[in-house]
Amino acid sequence: MKRLFVILSITCIGFFNLNAISGSSHDDKTKRGDDKKNKTKKDDTTKFVVNNENIIEGDDETADTTQILFPSHDLYATWDTVWAHPYNFTESFKTDSVIIQLTNEGDGGFVMPFKGGKTSVFGWRRYRPHYGTDIDLETGDQVVSAFDGMVRLAKYCQGYGNCVIIRHNNGLETVYGHLSKILVEPGQSLAAGALIGLGGNTGRSRGSHLHFEFRYLGQALDTEDFIDYDKGTLKDYCFTLRKADVENKYDLRALHTRHRKDIGYARSNAKGAKYAGPGAKNGIYYVRNGDNLGKIAKRNHTTIKALCKKNKLKETTVLRIGQKIKI
Ligand SMILES: [Zn+2]
Repeated sequence: MKRLFVILSITCIGFFNLNAISGSSHDDKTKRGDDKKNKTKKDDTTKFVVNNENIIEGDDETADTTQILFPSHDLYATWDTVWAHPYNFTESFKTDSVIIQLTNEGDGGFVMPFKGGKTSVFGWRRYRPHYGTDIDLETGDQVVSAFDGMVRLAKYCQGYGNCVIIRHNNGLETVYGHLSKILVEPGQSLAAGALIGLGGNTGRSRGSHLHFEFRYLGQALDTEDFIDYDKGTLKDYCFTLRKADVENKYDLRALHTRHRKDIGYARSNAKGAKYAGPGAKNGIYYVRNGDNLGKIAKRNHTTIKALCKKNKLKETTVLRIGQKIKI
């Protein structure tokens, strides 16, 4: 574990635990130590935006952190303008659920960052997780902030290309990737709908589009659980984030690993992949544990009589696991 002691102005306001520093690709690089190359740059992580330098006075160890001006400072200890996702969700998310208020009376509400068709959704792609929603646009189209907030990061990141990340008061962060041009800088306060950059095709991208993410404590969430893309509006004013949903729905890499393990288990349990299928393949069914002629007939939409005739069996014949049955 490596800690970086960050001094803001004269006053120390605490430790910034950077052991979860990740790469900035929009693929899953949120795991510890994934990006070894970045480690050498760790000591350069000094571009913390010091919004509070004029507020905190003295050198007492219990500085009034409520005076820190970056959004959602009660939730996040860090304000990092270099790394896209320097958080560890599982360590930070201590409760079973949290209600995230998306808009409040008096704020700017929600604005679609760009009104275009969806071209790719949240989920596992063939080789890697896709943590955002892709929105079709032409290079040069204007991309705007989805909510009121403050720019935390505005730079080129591997994977994302030219990228803007905005922190919001409710703890959410929105990510805008593949921009051709960035028009904001870290520390800048924005209203919902404010221009942040121009759409493009930078980073890991095939064709111009906006890669748009919602993150909470670094954990990517499916924007479609928040946004009705057909209407261009929020589905609700608040959102309940449950730990169970993260485990079963949003943690794509863990889900993928679990899925692969399940498949491996089914295969080894059935002594070969050909026994693992639910029904017949090429007219042949392989008998599985617990099968009888009645079950096999039902599963394959036929009758016991027909099976007996085709396979020269009696209705009372005891089946062996792995035995071939013509359907
Ligand atoms: Zn994308």
